Amino acid sequence: MKTAVIQVKALIHRSYAGPMTNLSYTFFAFCLGQLIIALHETYKLMEELKLRIGFGFDAHRFVKGRRCILCGVEIPCAFGPDGHSDADVPVHALMDALLGALALGDIGRHFPESDGKLQDADSIELLSKVYAMVKERGYILGNADITIVLESPRLSHYIEAMRERIAAALETDTGNISVKATTEERMGYTGTGEGISSTAAVLLTERQI
Ligand SMILES: [Zn+2]
Repeated sequence: MKTAVIQVKALIHRSYAGPMTNLSYTFFAFCLGQLIIALHETYKLMEELKLRIGFGFDAHRFVKGRRCILCGVEIPCAFGPDGHSDADVPVHALMDALLGALALGDIGRHFPESDGKLQDADSIELLSKVYAMVKERGYILGNADITIVLESPRLSHYIEAMRERIAAALETDTGNISVKATTEERMGYTGTGEGISSTAAVLLTERQI
């Protein structure tokens, strides 16, 4: 399409320089035809591209002596989120966002705490299972945006490793995965250090064949 536009521009420029020959008219018609075909294909592709949006939230209490695993990365810390699995809060929010985008319920429905096999389960593995469900339904991830809310520890040194782990589980580039950390200015349960919360938003795309 870009080439066709350049060719048409070049032709218009030439037509001002002097009268067009029969060959020029034929070439102009050819380029215009190519441009129309390219625009039609682009329009068809946009029509076929279906989008679904999802949002997830999760929160866990912090307890002493628990491992602190966030987005699949272990953070050196004297405390960590309490929970049935590894309590990877941002990954739980992300799974809920993926499931929510396709109206498939929440992680409690797919991975109930009554399932003994999920004790201390690796949430990144559960994320891969959720993404398999997404792909089975003909969708792929466009991008994901995660925000982790906690007073401490500071996460800035671990953000890139987190993005890489999430990107690998969702079979995409790190450019499609955003992980941010913030505080609530010492307010509420995250501000006092009682717990941690996270939100996640995802966009899924479907390409019909
Ligand atoms: Zn959770």
